[in-house]
Amino acid sequence: MQTTTVKAFGTEAAEAPLKTLNIERRAVMPSDVEIEILYCGICHSDLHAARNEWMNTVYPIVPGHEIVGRVTQVGDAVAKFKPGDLAAVGCLVDSCRECEYCREGLEQFCEPGATLTFNSPDKFIDGQQTYGGYSQSVVVDERFVLSVPESLDPAAAAPLLCAGITTYSPLRHWNVGPGTKVGVVGLGGLGHMAIKLAKAMGAEVTVFTTSPSKVEDAKRLGADDVVLSRDEEQMAAHANTLNFILDAVSAPHDINAYLGLLRADGTLVLVGAPLEPLPVVSFNLILGRKSFAGSPIGGLPETQEMLDFCAEHNVVPDIELIGVDDVNDAYERLLKGDVRYRFVIDMKTLN
Ligand code: NAP
Ligand code: ZN
Ligand code: ZN
Repeated sequence: MQTTTVKAFGTEAAEAPLKTLNIERRAVMPSDVEIEILYCGICHSDLHAARNEWMNTVYPIVPGHEIVGRVTQVGDAVAKFKPGDLAAVGCLVDSCRECEYCREGLEQFCEPGATLTFNSPDKFIDGQQTYGGYSQSVVVDERFVLSVPESLDPAAAAPLLCAGITTYSPLRHWNVGPGTKVGVVGLGGLGHMAIKLAKAMGAEVTVFTTSPSKVEDAKRLGADDVVLSRDEEQMAAHANTLNFILDAVSAPHDINAYLGLLRADGTLVLVGAPLEPLPVVSFNLILGRKSFAGSPIGGLPETQEMLDFCAEHNVVPDIELIGVDDVNDAYERLLKGDVRYRFVIDMKTLN
């Protein structure tokens, strides 16, 4: 396989800061799209992976799965894209395409396992892992490339590719809409998208945050009510009030406190992904016939649907645009919950 060397920003060890690296990108094959990366969002999963918190990282790693850029080259068989188009890549860059799930456009459940945008074995370059969006360019099969509606600001659109779809998909799957009382736990990148999307779907939204400094923001982002989750009185006042809770917390926390907020037949969906087990008290589920569920990203058709929904409903992430030199600092701020509400890297700064 012919390859091209491009610049990227990643790390060679869990304890080491990210720095400029050289990586290889494959030559464009017939159904491939080459994208010059303009912007890449920083997801907390980037940090979990860079620091080997999920204990499966192969180094070097180049994180980044919220990619927006311009198409620079397409293979002969590509129908959907041409050079100059605004395009995006999310968390998946390949899958088997043949299993029951892939045929339904649910590539996130691919049976042999989908290829993630970073830290998956690369199918085309022997012995290499996939490298993510903290880089100058990427080459991806067109099936895994999304169209960015021209009305969306390209920098602000980047977080939709993970934070957007990861919250949109469960809100849709559990039929959130007018009349649904939704709780959002953890006001970070995912949490702030959950507020905006649930409101755009017509739901009533209560936000649960550990950060007093985010209360006003939560309201500005659209929340009908905001609760400081470390205040037991405020929590007690919301017992048995919610139909659906989306939990987007990146660290261990007490799930039982939230199960108690659900009404009978309510569902708590975990999208936050701390490695540690989260113990559940059986009666917190049994007594109200409640469900405790999880949800990963979304398939390609639903990701496109989400982008189009955001364009139509003017749902735009709140971003802080940074340069690559700020990435290590941004990781430290993420760990402190100090994010308003998604860092997006201006990839020009890598040159
Ligand atoms: P983020 O921007 O860092 O937000 C996480 C938020 O969780 C923080 O802002 C904070 O909100 C809250 N939090 C952090 N530490 C806490 C603690 N010790 N106790 C209680 N609350 C705490 O992260 P993100 O990018 O939104 O990602 C959130 C999680 O979702 C991560 O674990 C990430 O890996 C995961 N994720 C999963 C999927 C999926 O497919 N399921 C996709 C993307 C990301 P407050 O200040 O409001 O308390
Ligand atoms: Zn992510
Ligand atoms: Zn498959």
